[in-house]
Amino acid sequence: MDEKLLHEIASARSDVLARIAAAAKSAGREAAGVELVAVSKVQPDERIEAMLAAGQRVFGENRVQEAEGRWEHRRAAHAGLELRLIGPLQSNKAREAVALFDVIETLDRTKLAGALADAFVQAGKTPRLYVQVNTGEEEQKAGVAPRDADAFIAAMRRDYGFAIEGLMCIPPAEEPAGPHFALLAKIAARNGVAKLSMGMSADYDIAVLFGATSVRVGSALFGARG
Ligand SMILES: *Cc1c(COP(=O)(O)O)cnc(C)c1O
Repeated sequence: MDEKLLHEIASARSDVLARIAAAAKSAGREAAGVELVAVSKVQPDERIEAMLAAGQRVFGENRVQEAEGRWEHRRAAHAGLELRLIGPLQSNKAREAVALFDVIETLDRTKLAGALADAFVQAGKTPRLYVQVNTGEEEQKAGVAPRDADAFIAAMRRDYGFAIEGLMCIPPAEEPAGPHFALLAKIAARNGVAKLSMGMSADYDIAVLFGATSVRVGSALFGARG
């Protein structure tokens, strides 16, 4: 493998982990309470291999088919790999998603819940689930509206027996992220939901201050997506 690339990727990862640790410390939290999810969408194979060589095992992807191509054959070779779906999921892709992913972070519709419940039975396995909340109430963005979140989480638990592990949000690009992170944390707390997936390359340290338990970092780890 290209030594220069290996070094570049390993040092980008160390930098991100150090910033997470610093943010955790200033928030009076343990750095171990924040999982780094490396967002590997669109990245070329040599960067994926370098990230694995650097020790990273938790990866986020936003398209099911693309993720299958990147990860199916790597599963066997890398013990402890954890794959998280962080992009919108069509109900007709539920089976493939359940087969591949350990965590699905984008549950946001009753129809999708039904498709997932069927897929769990067929696959005999249940990925951990997060509900996506559209904190900015953006038309084009997936996720349940904040005002509907309590009822949606309750329905997932009651009607499908789903254990909701966490909440996930993607704040509007043009707004300060802090208030969105605070809102997500508040919705989680009042619903007894433990985990918060929030923060990307531009704002993961802010997310840690607001209680993120996982941050989804792509470009700051791998370099810009081509
Ligand atoms: C692409 C993506 C990320 C990572 O974005 P960066 O700005 O490159 O860190 C995080 N979350 C989601 C949902 C994404 O689609």
